[in-house]
Amino acid sequence: MSKKIIFLGPPGAGKGTQAKLLAAKHQLAHISTGDMLRAAVAEGSELGKQVKGILDSGQLVSDALIVQLIEDRVKKSDCARGYILDGFPRTVPQAEALKAMLAAAGTSISAVVSFELSEESVLGRLTHRAGVEARADDSAEVQRERLRVYREQTSPLIQYYTNAKLLRSVDASGSVDDVQKLVEAALDVK
Ligand code: AMP
Repeated sequence: MSKKIIFLGPPGAGKGTQAKLLAAKHQLAHISTGDMLRAAVAEGSELGKQVKGILDSGQLVSDALIVQLIEDRVKKSDCARGYILDGFPRTVPQAEALKAMLAAAGTSISAVVSFELSEESVLGRLTHRAGVEARADDSAEVQRERLRVYREQTSPLIQYYTNAKLLRSVDASGSVDDVQKLVEAALDVK
């Protein structure tokens, strides 16, 4: 069965790094909605023009837009063996839309890995990332906003997926290697 895995966690928790590693090792597609949106902005496409201001502010783009983006993406052939969703869903309505979309295709989410990291560590890592990656969305003020948005709109998904018996928590405070081992153990893969 093809694996459909969600990586959930605050900004700076290392989801993107771990998603890339796991996807490459297990021939899964890595679907990062943030990367897709940033690529659209860099291209200057219609979508990019529509979302640039929202990305720069640290707010979320609309559920309808992001769900359409995912629907189109998972139909691509590289998703046949399964995929890791990195940065989606980010709201309960997105999670509901994903569930309905998969149910319509006769399938469902395999597991949700929750990356656990204290707010203090999140802020420390984001400050570091702003220095090394110079991401436009990583000014100190925007970082705080993204964390606030995470707390308000995304963190309820921890309870949502706990209720669905899909959540597997991982301590994300260790090194890349340590966290990778924990993620693989949580997913029962090596
Ligand atoms: P990320 O790289 O995942 O932190 O995403 C960067 C930005 O893209 C976010 O701050 C949002 O503005 C937007 N974004 C990415 N994924 C989503 C999503 N699932 N729902 C809404 N907005 C998103």
